[in-house]
Amino acid sequence: MAQKLGLVHLSTGDLFRAHIKNQTPLGRKVKGLMDAGQLVPDDVTWQLVAQRIAEDDCAGGYILDGFPRTIRQAELLGEQETLDAVIDIEVDGDVLMHRLCGRRVCVACGAPYHTSHYTGDTCTRCGAALMQRDDDRPETVKSRLAVYEAQTAPLIAYYRERGLLRPVDGAQETENVFAEILRLLGVA
Ligand code: AMP
Repeated sequence: MAQKLGLVHLSTGDLFRAHIKNQTPLGRKVKGLMDAGQLVPDDVTWQLVAQRIAEDDCAGGYILDGFPRTIRQAELLGEQETLDAVIDIEVDGDVLMHRLCGRRVCVACGAPYHTSHYTGDTCTRCGAALMQRDDDRPETVKSRLAVYEAQTAPLIAYYRERGLLRPVDGAQETENVFAEILRLLGVA
């Protein structure tokens, strides 16, 4: 989506994982929370996002992925930025369990795979090894879904009230979800 629209892809999960990989003080602080499927505190997360948004390449626009995840984060974001739309990709809990527990990602380029479509253990794009994210193990996925219900789901009403919510049926094939989002954004 970011490629197609020429926008920066800003994933808070990716930013945190980079800090963990580089063993920074922030990485050491958030690793335990992420491994347990818990959220990183709002102020820490917002600082990281605010810093990244302030970089030059974000001036032309960006897609936030995995942020905001709490009402407080949405408030902090709203105090500083004006959003065009909020895409809510709707997927049932049991489908999410299946998708996340079977997900494998390339250690080098981050390309995502699923064990039901691909059983190899190397990336077809760059040849590096595939791995399972620590937080994609079944017990952690259950915690993440519970955290979503308690802390993130309230954002649906929050953004609906502000006229920004664009719900999309995420049970469809990837290409259809992609096309649907473009249509909702008026760029298809
Ligand atoms: P993700 O890659 O988006 O699934 O995020 C992986 C993990 O990073 C989450 O389970 C949280 O521990 C942490 N994380 C990512 N984004 C946020 C956020 N907006 N607020 C708090 N924690 C986050």
